Amino acid sequence: MAIYKRLDKVDDKRRYELLSPVTLEPIGELNCCSKEEVEEAVNKARKAQKDWALRNIKERLQFIHNMIDEVLGNQDEIIETVMRETGKPEAEAMSMEVYASVDSLAFYSKRASKFLKPQKIKLHGPMRFLKKAHLIYKPRGVIAVITPWNGPFILSLNPAIQALLGGNAVIIKPSEVTPFSAKLVETLFLKAGLPKYLVQVLLGDGQTGEELVNSKIDKVSFTGSIKTGKKIAQICGSRLIPYTLELGGNDAMLVCSDADIDKAVDGALIGSCMNTGQYCCGTERIYVHQKIYDEFLNKVIEKAKTLKQSGQSDSDIGATFWDKQLEIIEDHVNDAIEKGANLHLGGRRNSNLKGLFYEPTVLSNVNHEMKIMNEETFGPVVCIQEVTDDDEAIRLANDSRYGLNGNVWTKDKKKGLRIASYMETGAASVNDMAMSYGINEVPFGGVKNSGIGFVNGKEGLRGYCHAMPIIMERFSKGPISSYPYRKQDIENMRGFLSLMKNKYLRKFLG
Ligand code: NAD
Repeated sequence: MAIYKRLDKVDDKRRYELLSPVTLEPIGELNCCSKEEVEEAVNKARKAQKDWALRNIKERLQFIHNMIDEVLGNQDEIIETVMRETGKPEAEAMSMEVYASVDSLAFYSKRASKFLKPQKIKLHGPMRFLKKAHLIYKPRGVIAVITPWNGPFILSLNPAIQALLGGNAVIIKPSEVTPFSAKLVETLFLKAGLPKYLVQVLLGDGQTGEELVNSKIDKVSFTGSIKTGKKIAQICGSRLIPYTLELGGNDAMLVCSDADIDKAVDGALIGSCMNTGQYCCGTERIYVHQKIYDEFLNKVIEKAKTLKQSGQSDSDIGATFWDKQLEIIEDHVNDAIEKGANLHLGGRRNSNLKGLFYEPTVLSNVNHEMKIMNEETFGPVVCIQEVTDDDEAIRLANDSRYGLNGNVWTKDKKKGLRIASYMETGAASVNDMAMSYGINEVPFGGVKNSGIGFVNGKEGLRGYCHAMPIIMERFSKGPISSYPYRKQDIENMRGFLSLMKNKYLRKFLG
């Protein structure tokens, strides 16, 4: 079974036929851009960016407002396109792709001026009497946004909004598994009146992505696997250009003895199965306190039995988006069962459905010898391990090369906050599944192998700019740095250093 098939080259271009993950029928053809087309797109982007950088933030924001109208006006087409190439239920296409996009556009349209406003910075020490600093946020130029298949519209649009507001041009290279949703981002920006070539979507495969990273772009904003992230980091390192990497996860859920069990059961299922488990911050490992373990496990099994799986828009659990992921899910579940895990539900492809469907699965008695607890599974699988206390839960949660997100469940909010702060992850939630990507106020990024740098929030937006300090004189008659070196200057500095011996003065001058 294949979700895309390689076709014969035409005009020396790589081509693929895409199949629906629901029906396995053809849904379109992908023609990969050539290296020359990539380079041409970058040249066009650079030209367009020069004018764009001269526009003030208010002018840039006008297009973002227009884009909100376009997304709202075309929500049915977005949902239909996403569902056709991913097989996700309508509720997920609406919440993850359309709702989240409008929310993000609205958030930045209100705050971008403030986040990117030039700042005056007061200086410290003796320098405060002589100089002042201005900080301005300058565009970097042309940003390459390379995206995966699990959130094909939002993961293309969201970095593009931030890069554009920062004064950059954007070239998006979406996943070859789900190219059409990203293409819609380009179409809608053009409908919103955005000048041509400021947002271009180049269709292609991994080779196209690599050619883009090797072209004359100024930054890479990458979302995808660790393996590809490392390759991109190497190229960017050798070219000395900045990059952010938003990579995979193997998130842990910690259920304390005082958790609201019913809520935690709901959290376990949605956290593990949303987007058919293909969510970078999906819950992949659940550690449950021994006192409530049996009740929790039984309730998870009962609730999991009620989940509807189909290719219909109203299902709870949709298709796996491509065949390679289905093979990984099967491999991890089979490995866990062979090594002693208990299978309570699922554990196989859904034979009633034609497409790429893996049944919602519940496993217990799992441990860290199993692939399923060490690697990202990205499937609708709930994995539950019993622990003796919170310390063991934290230790096991942190025993991972990943560090994207995590969640803690307890009725004691202070304890929840404390335990969450011990998690070696980019972010965490208390009494909910991973929420941070959808909360635009906060920076989003992983630690360990889950990524480098941030998208979203003030930090993410500013990351698409170079923060440039400009140091000015305070008084035109003030001294400046100059030759020759004078004995008196050395004495003055010695005098200042002796003032620093006094801890009150040190506080004032520091
Ligand atoms: P992938 O790394 O295989 O592909 C991602 C993108 O990179 C695709 O567009 C692909 O064509 C391109 N690519 C492949 N090889 C390349 C190369 N050598 N140079 C440049 N580009 C190249 O990842 P995927 O399978 O599409 O995505 C799934 C992964 O993404 C999962 O691990 C998931 O956790 C992760 N993800 C992370 C986040 C996050 O925000 N942290 C969000 C969504 C998905």
